[in-house]
Amino acid sequence: MKLMNTAPLRLKHGLVLAGMLVGLFLTGCAEIDRPGTPASEVPMEATVSLPPAPPTITPAPSQITPASPASATPTLTASPTSTPFPTPTQTPVAASSPTTTPVPTLATSPTPEPVTKPTPNIQLQQKIETLTIGGSSDDIQRVVIISIDGLRPDAWEQADTPILDALRLKGAFTDVAQTVVPATTLIAHASMLGGMTPEKHGIYWNVYDPSLGLINGPTLFSEAHNAGLRTAMVAGKPRLAHIVLPNSVDNYNYAGYTDQQTVEAALAVIQTGLPDVLFIHLPNVDSVGHAAGWMSAEQLTTVSIADGLVGELVAAIDAGGYLPGTLLVITADHGGHGFEHGDAPEDIIVPWLAVGPGVPAGLTLQPGLMIYDTAATALYALNLPIPPTWDGRPVLEIFTGK
Ligand SMILES: [Zn+2]
Repeated sequence: MKLMNTAPLRLKHGLVLAGMLVGLFLTGCAEIDRPGTPASEVPMEATVSLPPAPPTITPAPSQITPASPASATPTLTASPTSTPFPTPTQTPVAASSPTTTPVPTLATSPTPEPVTKPTPNIQLQQKIETLTIGGSSDDIQRVVIISIDGLRPDAWEQADTPILDALRLKGAFTDVAQTVVPATTLIAHASMLGGMTPEKHGIYWNVYDPSLGLINGPTLFSEAHNAGLRTAMVAGKPRLAHIVLPNSVDNYNYAGYTDQQTVEAALAVIQTGLPDVLFIHLPNVDSVGHAAGWMSAEQLTTVSIADGLVGELVAAIDAGGYLPGTLLVITADHGGHGFEHGDAPEDIIVPWLAVGPGVPAGLTLQPGLMIYDTAATALYALNLPIPPTWDGRPVLEIFTGK
């Protein structure tokens, strides 16, 4: 990332992160209610040494993926349950959109794709860089949310991410958004898309197991669907089916356990008619984090690959003529440290970017943004009421003239 001049925060990222970690620890990093003390209110120049690491929650076995051949193999990766997931039995709701649901295919294993340096796509980069996004918030007709599983803000910072950086210049961003605890994929996505803390949405597991039931709604999808909007979800992990309530997602896709498969499915959805709400989940940054370590060279390369795939998605949205009416949110469900994630400060801080009509370009968002604000922001953008039971609140800073 080459945006070091946009905020003092990023000038000394390590110091900031250290300060943040201290602050989070001091203010109770396991707090999952709307924080009384946003991370940014902690002293950034804190010079005290880091506190002892809080108790670490061992990630659910299903989070753990086999080590990539290039990685040092952590002992954690041996897991009897890191086997292929069953096909989701969540029956896709009959699509009211003309979009064809690709037949879900199971990856034989959740092994990440080989991590090789992506070839820079200069043409794509220039395309994204030169996109013009004008208009006002009233122009928003659709919301696209992209979740890059396990993406730490400082991984974005350190990796080569020309697409994400270009989008960031066009939108509003924070690198101190917070997810919920325990910061695991299913629990955090349930909050991201269900607008509530885990206590309310009721998902406390992190595996795909139909016997465990579904999220306690309402969700972003159920609210949008009930309002007559078209909704679609492209998941990179089968477990996200637990977030799909009946009659909420018109077009549910699980195309495979890789970013490439997910993006191909998402491109098909976009090219056959972008729905009003589209959620796309890219799993690889997390998978490689578990296999090779968070912030490892392999993971940073995976972030770069994801960057290019995000570019393909945005280019497809643009090619369909949807860009002037689309609010795009790019975030992550959690971060990570070592080979895992749960409740450590590095696990809880996530990036959050909004790009779209009326979103002030280059804005650094106020601290205190919670992952469950994502769903509320999406409903607000679509002029839909926010359920009173939700904890999430719209990120009003990104809206102008609304
Ligand atoms: Zn995750």
